[in-house]
Amino acid sequence: MNMSLEKRFNSVKNRVNSSNQNTDNSSIIDLLAVSKKQPLEKIVQLYNMGQRMFGESYIQEAIDKIEQLSDLDIQWHYIGPIQSNKTKYIAQYFSWVQSVDSVKLLTRLNRQRAVDQKQLNILLQLKVGGEDSKRGLSAPELLSICAKHAEFEHLSIRGLMSIPAPTSIYSEQKAQFKICQNVFQQMQEIIAVDTLSMGMSSDLEAAIACGSTMVRIGTDIFGKRVL
Ligand SMILES: *Cc1c(COP(=O)(O)O)cnc(C)c1O
Repeated sequence: MNMSLEKRFNSVKNRVNSSNQNTDNSSIIDLLAVSKKQPLEKIVQLYNMGQRMFGESYIQEAIDKIEQLSDLDIQWHYIGPIQSNKTKYIAQYFSWVQSVDSVKLLTRLNRQRAVDQKQLNILLQLKVGGEDSKRGLSAPELLSICAKHAEFEHLSIRGLMSIPAPTSIYSEQKAQFKICQNVFQQMQEIIAVDTLSMGMSSDLEAAIACGSTMVRIGTDIFGKRVL
């Protein structure tokens, strides 16, 4: 077993748990291990330590890994930018997609999800924090999609994902995550959603303080991306 991987993994879990204890209503926080550009062996090692949720951003790399690890009980999340000519692979291989930012993508994913598969779990990506975060929906766009959720019978809209503009200042991290939390609460008034995916290696504490239910951690679990 790779000790440094195990140490990193445990230290991230400890950070998540202690941040969670500082909130008023500590519920379970899902930990997504972001394995993009990380070798297969490390995914297997983490799996053997009990990790089940993994996130990938590059379609071909993801398909290779998913096929090679098909014997393992892994829940795969697609978290990268989506080109519309790749939606059929996402619909086929993944159980969650976190980076959906248009009705067009929802329509394609809904059509391409096979009827004998479970509903594909969807998080709508909210745009926060200025110009350099180009991707994502505005809050009004996102809420209007929620109102149309019944049109997508092969999809299950589970909540919101966001990648705020990077900053190392805690109060600025929190200000952006508060916006996400607020939009998430507005979503909950329209449909039953349970997942607020926010927080990465450098800002998971602020995200959890603002009600995150899922953090997505790459570097602080795996170390530098290598592939
Ligand atoms: C790469 C990535 C992460 C993980 O980032 P780290 O800083 O390595 O923890 C989380 N979310 C998304 C959407 C990513 O693309």
